[in-house]
Amino acid sequence: MKIRAQIGMVLNLDKCIGCHTCSVTCKNVWTSRPGMEYAWFNNVETKPGIGYPKEWENQDKWNGGWVRKASGAIEPRQGAKWKLLMRIFTNPNLPEIDDYYEPFTYDYAHLQSAPEMKATPTARPRSLITGKQMDKIVWGPNWEEILGGEFAGRSKDRNFDDIQKEMYGQFENTFMMYLPRLCEHCLNPACVASCPSGSIYKREEDGIVLIDQDKCRGWRMCVSGCPYKKIYYNWKSGKAEKCIFCYPRIEAGQPTVCSETCVGRIRYLGVLLYDADRIQEAASVEHDRDLYQAQLDIFLDPFDPKVIEQARVDGIPDKWMEAARNSPVYKMAVQWKVALPLHPEYRTLPMVWYVPPLSPISAAANAGHLGNNGEIPDVNQLRIPVRYLANLLTAGDTKPVVRALERMLAMRAYQREKHVDQRINQAVL
Ligand code: SF4
Ligand code: SF4
Repeated sequence: MKIRAQIGMVLNLDKCIGCHTCSVTCKNVWTSRPGMEYAWFNNVETKPGIGYPKEWENQDKWNGGWVRKASGAIEPRQGAKWKLLMRIFTNPNLPEIDDYYEPFTYDYAHLQSAPEMKATPTARPRSLITGKQMDKIVWGPNWEEILGGEFAGRSKDRNFDDIQKEMYGQFENTFMMYLPRLCEHCLNPACVASCPSGSIYKREEDGIVLIDQDKCRGWRMCVSGCPYKKIYYNWKSGKAEKCIFCYPRIEAGQPTVCSETCVGRIRYLGVLLYDADRIQEAASVEHDRDLYQAQLDIFLDPFDPKVIEQARVDGIPDKWMEAARNSPVYKMAVQWKVALPLHPEYRTLPMVWYVPPLSPISAAANAGHLGNNGEIPDVNQLRIPVRYLANLLTAGDTKPVVRALERMLAMRAYQREKHVDQRINQAVL
C-alpha cells in the first residue's frame, strides 16, 4: 500500500442555477489573455446537450481516455507512446475553433455612438456543425437550454438523429439540468500519458495536474487525449494550458475561485486518501459498469489506525491527514456515496464528483415513483431519467444513482421534519 493525498471537489447539481458566475470569475483570473479567448477552464453546460467543445463525450470521434485491451492492460485510446510519436504531426482527433466557438470582442468604443439603423432581428439560428446529418440541425450556444431534451441514456453513443429527436421532442418529456465542468485532476490522467514531451505531471502532495510551460512543445496530443476536453491550446504562446485548481490559492489555504464565487454554494473542496498501488488495477477492471465501485475501493478511511500509520510512513503531512478527516468530499463521495464521478468509463479516475440533481424529480417522488420505502423506483417515471444520470455518472449502472437520490430524499425529509419540530418547539416555548 502506498498512500497519497488528492484534493477533490464535489458539486451538488441540485443547487446549480446555471448563472455561469464560476466560469466568468475563473476566466477573469486565469484566461483573460490573448491566445486564450475561447478557453474556459470552468464552463457550465446545459444537459442533455452536446456540450463544449461540441460532442466532447463522443470518444469515437475524439479518441480520448483509456481503453482496456484483450490482455487486460489499459492504454490511451490515442495509442501507446510509440504510436503517439508517429501521430504528433497529424493529430487527427483535434477539435477546431468551430468545435468551440468564435469568441467576440465587445465593441465598447462604439457603445454610445451607434448610428441610427434599421433594428431588424438579424440573428438567425445557424448550422454551425458540418457533416452530413448535422446539416439538418440548427445549433448555437445554449441552444439546448431553450429546447431541453427528450432522451434517456444515450449520452455515450448518441448519434445526430437522437439529438434531433431530443431537440424536437414532445414537450412533456423534456428535461434539463446544469453541469458545471472543470479539469478532473484525474488519478490516471490520459493527458499525462498522451504528452510526448513529458510536460504534464501530477503533483505529489495534492494530485493537482499541471503543465510545465517550459517543457510543453505544443504537440496538442493532450487536447486529443483528455476525454473531458479540458486542455486548451494557447495559439499565442504555442503551449497547452489547463485548470490549475487555483493551486496558489490552495497553498494559501483559500478555496478555488469557482468555489468561492459560486452563487448556488454548490461546491465543496476536500482531501481524499487513496492507495496509489491500486490505480492501475482500478482503471483496468473488465466491465465499464464496475469502474465506479473499483474507483471507490481505492480510497482509504482516514480514521483507520493502519491507514494513519502507513500515511506517516509515506510522508503525508499532519495537516493533510486532518483535512482528510474533515473532508466533505470523503463524506459525500466515499462514505455516503451521494456524489458520483463523471463518466468513469473513460478510465481516468476523475476527481470531481457530482451529487445528481433531485429537485426536478420531486413531483415523481411525491407521486410515490421514487421509493422512500426501499422500493426500486420506476425509472421511467422520473423527470430526469435515472438511466440518463447513470450514463453520465456511473457508466450506466442505475443502482448507485438510485441509492444517491434516495439518500438525498431521505435527508430532505429528515431536515424538513426537524425544522417543523423546531418551529413547533419554538412556538410552544
Ligand atoms: Fe488531464 Fe484534466 Fe483531462 Fe483528466 S480531465 S485527462 S487531468 S486534463
Ligand atoms: Fe452553478 Fe455555482 Fe457556477 Fe452559478 S456559480 S453556474 S450556481 S456552479
